[in-house]
Amino acid sequence: MTTVLQSYIAGRWVGREAAQTLNSAINGQPVASTHAEALDFGEAVSHARKVGLPALLAMDFQQRAERLKALGKYLAQNKEKLYAISAHTGATRADGWIDIEGGAGTLMAYASMGSNELPSGNLVHEGPAMALGRKGGFAGTHILVPRRGVAVHINAFNFPVWGLLEKFAPSFLAGMPCIGKPATATSYLTEALVRLINESGLLPEGALQLVIGGTGDLLDRLDGSDFVTFTGSADTAAKLRVHPNLVRQSIPFNAEADSLNCAILAPDVTPDDEEFDLFVKEVAREMTTKAGQKCTAIRRAIVPRSHVDAVATKLRERLARTVIGDPSREDVRMGALASRAQFEDVSERVATLMQGAELLYGERDGFAPVGDGVANGAFFSPTLLLSRKPLEHDAVHDVEAFGPVSTLMAYDGLDEAIALAARGRGSLVGTLVTRDPKTAARVIPAVAALHGRFLVLDREAAVESTGHGSPLPQLKHGGPGRAGGGEELGGIRAVKHYLQRTAVQGSPTMIAAITGEYMRGATLNESELHPFRKHFEDLQIGDSLLTHRRTVGEADIVAFGGISGDYFYMHFDEVAAKESPFGKRIAHGYFVLSAAAGLFVSPAPGPVLANYGLDTLRFVKPVGIGDTIRARLTAKRKIDRNKKDAKGVGQGVVAWDVEVTNQLDEVVASYDILTLVSKRS
Ligand code: NDP
Repeated sequence: MTTVLQSYIAGRWVGREAAQTLNSAINGQPVASTHAEALDFGEAVSHARKVGLPALLAMDFQQRAERLKALGKYLAQNKEKLYAISAHTGATRADGWIDIEGGAGTLMAYASMGSNELPSGNLVHEGPAMALGRKGGFAGTHILVPRRGVAVHINAFNFPVWGLLEKFAPSFLAGMPCIGKPATATSYLTEALVRLINESGLLPEGALQLVIGGTGDLLDRLDGSDFVTFTGSADTAAKLRVHPNLVRQSIPFNAEADSLNCAILAPDVTPDDEEFDLFVKEVAREMTTKAGQKCTAIRRAIVPRSHVDAVATKLRERLARTVIGDPSREDVRMGALASRAQFEDVSERVATLMQGAELLYGERDGFAPVGDGVANGAFFSPTLLLSRKPLEHDAVHDVEAFGPVSTLMAYDGLDEAIALAARGRGSLVGTLVTRDPKTAARVIPAVAALHGRFLVLDREAAVESTGHGSPLPQLKHGGPGRAGGGEELGGIRAVKHYLQRTAVQGSPTMIAAITGEYMRGATLNESELHPFRKHFEDLQIGDSLLTHRRTVGEADIVAFGGISGDYFYMHFDEVAAKESPFGKRIAHGYFVLSAAAGLFVSPAPGPVLANYGLDTLRFVKPVGIGDTIRARLTAKRKIDRNKKDAKGVGQGVVAWDVEVTNQLDEVVASYDILTLVSKRS
């Protein structure tokens, strides 16, 4: 009897009775079955709203980032439990690495970006705030807040672990409880992942629920605060996008669908160049990794007509060396498709592509993967086609064979290569292999409109390149047009997709109170106690100090020039300075900065530990000999990253607004200083 998979809904595992049997991609033997019990999606959504949401919003961005980090570590420590199951999906160890360790790594990457780039609290100020009136009493800015809804993630079969985690990470950071729905074919691996996550005890109840099988009336139960993401076929995306409830309630729908990604070999690369081999290697790798079941795989290899034969020969050699079979064997480099159903689907699509293309490589009869008992597995030979007249061959630009299948396309001239790339009608990713910066500068702007990401590969980048097919947490993933029109990953951008952006208008004091960030014109708190003498907990936004004054003399300029070695004419050449736009010698900008620090610091050791940088520095007006300056220092922003120093004393980050003015109260320099400030305990 096979294991019956269970859904995790409303805090309990549901499912006892077997429904659909799921077979191993390697030997066709049953691995598990879905459950027959219908799920109560009303209960699932209500649980997310009533239990998950309050628990998530009781934490802030920084605390959720910490949980993600802990979860990423926990999954990495327990990865072997997932690898043991992953092989049934047809994945080799290397394929599993992308899925499993890639998934855990994505959690860690989001944890780190969240901790570095998001504030404490649950409001992101997307500033700077701007004055909207002349008198300074009316201002505007943008804030981002949790949507107070539920994220539903419908995923594809090819990445059962990464697929869920890369969606979960940013939505969890944004404070949304998630309902994950993996593709049925490989849902046994996602179920094992969710069990592991539950065992970790790191997530609050209701933060993540799992649906095995269909989504029933789930989408009907959502409202405008919710969010749906989808990865899979363009047909299903097209269907779900117009789901009546999603349309009626304007529920955001992010789709990542089929994509006929291209790689272009530029005309400047000759068969003797290293780049020629890089191109061949990249195409072969994209064909065979995950047995070509990657939304980012290279489906269309666009090659100068004169080099088609040379590329074909080298690709054939590489593909022939790829050992295909049971992924548990060490010599195997390519496993199976995820299921027999996928095998049938890919076979049909290759037959369609062949109408207008030649077969360059691909074993059919007699194809024998290595390993015992693999005869009923879903193994598919790498298949390389050649389209000699690709501009006249529609199928190669329309039909995605979701397996180890790629088509070489011959082109004449760079414009034709660009036109062929565009025939994909929107792709997730493309690669240009060139040695010539001018070619890159010409091609990339031309193809960018139809691509979500583009890799430019040459020998220099190749040393560290993460490859054509790897979406990175830091960079945007998703493409326009037939690729689904969605956007995900891309660092904190992905978190922002799950937050509501709202414009706020009002007086500077109101804006400062709402955003937790001082803006000029807002109420200041001035007291006898220097702000640098206050611990992190005691400092309030708006705590401010107006310094005494200092008149700048020629001796200051001469001394500063001597110390810094900066004898620029504007400070030292009376004649040239007279002819300059300022008409006189002026002080070094860096002198003004240094003098301002001298005016505002409180020198004794204290809670303010270190200054680690400046932001938004502008020298607004010149300071001439005889001008008198003073500075206003105001606590602008506080970020508590829950960090401690080596002695275990907590510390936070404080950004200070600094405004240096002259005797006419005109601003001469403006910037933020970033400091570390220790906590009381
Ligand atoms: P599908 O579009 O059929 O399925 C994707 C996901 O949507 C699965 O979780 C599926 O669940 C779910 N789903 C299907 N129909 C509905 C529905 N009516 N309501 C709610 N959820 C639904 O894609 P497949 O996974 O079957 O793959 C088919 C093709 O999609 C591939 O051959 C390939 O061309 C493309 N694909 C693209 C990917 C990409 O990343 N761009 C990734 C994977 C596939 P269930 O499995 O239970 O049907």
